[in-house]
Amino acid sequence: HNAKEQNVEIRRYIPSMQMKAKERLKLENDLRRALERNEFYLVYQPQVQLETEEIVGMEALLRWEHPKRGIVSPVEFIPIAEESGLIVPIGDWVLRTACQQNKEWQLAGYRHICVSVNLSMRQFLQPNLAGKIDALLQEIGLDPCYVDLEITESMTLDKETAFDQLNRLKRLGVFISIDDFGTGYSSLHYLKNMPIDRLKIDRSFVSEVMEDSNNAAIVSTITSMAHHLKLKVTAEGVENKDQLHFLRQQHCHEAQGYLFSKPIKAAEFEAAFLKPLLGLPVQR
Ligand code: C2E
Ligand code: MG
Ligand code: MG
Ligand code: MG
Repeated sequence: HNAKEQNVEIRRYIPSMQMKAKERLKLENDLRRALERNEFYLVYQPQVQLETEEIVGMEALLRWEHPKRGIVSPVEFIPIAEESGLIVPIGDWVLRTACQQNKEWQLAGYRHICVSVNLSMRQFLQPNLAGKIDALLQEIGLDPCYVDLEITESMTLDKETAFDQLNRLKRLGVFISIDDFGTGYSSLHYLKNMPIDRLKIDRSFVSEVMEDSNNAAIVSTITSMAHHLKLKVTAEGVENKDQLHFLRQQHCHEAQGYLFSKPIKAAEFEAAFLKPLLGLPVQR
């Protein structure tokens, strides 16, 4: 590259960066007001136990209906919320709303299922997180065994902090899952000692499991490792019957994905998936 070419590149680069920073700042300001303006809502996606084909859980996923932009993807706004610290009040709202909804459905006489809530790094690092969740569940009257907290491997990077936090959460009685498993760095040594309940195999491995023999090997290895470690294992992003068949052959416990349903609003989820409570609640 000669100097002239480089200059052209630099000139092109700067304005677009400025635009992005401006855009981002605007989104952050809008995000700051989104809670009080009631622009957030949750959608729910079923988690299916493969052996029984029963719905044993649902993942609560956050949606932001921006007044001008329409629905903004969490992939876009969660990082901004995380960096600005807004994720803490937003995450509190998600936890409260998901737990209240689950309790409401229990009181309405539906069979009890577990609600999974995604935690971000900043939320997970709050020293009083377990205390906050304890107070919340007592206030709502929801049994902690119907709450699953999804964390990612990167949140366990600081080993001691993560262990302490996970132990406090486990003492509460909530379920703990490692989300997007396989995309992080976690060593088998960490995994062996961590007080967790479940691995969720990342969608990227599941989506091409029939086309890519490496993905098949990864899914099968994670599944068998989970069995050996006495952890539950859930496959994310299951979109077709061939994938489901493969997961069944591997004795994967649960699956989640568009094959069963996209994440949908509470009323829709209730109508499509909740069953009346007859006999004992299903346990994971
Ligand atoms: P995630 O926790 O791994 O959630 C699964 C994502 O995969 C969801 O995207 C879901 O809609 C999508 N998905 C599920 N099944 C399929 C499938 O069969 N095919 C395909 N292509 N996609 C599928 P979504 O809702 O856009 O969320 C993206 C990410 O944003 C989540 O990934 C999670 O990391 C984050 N997120 C969402 N809600 C929250 C929240 O309340 N708090 C935090 N901290 N993060 C959240
Ligand atoms: Mg998740
Ligand atoms: Mg995931
Ligand atoms: Mg994922």
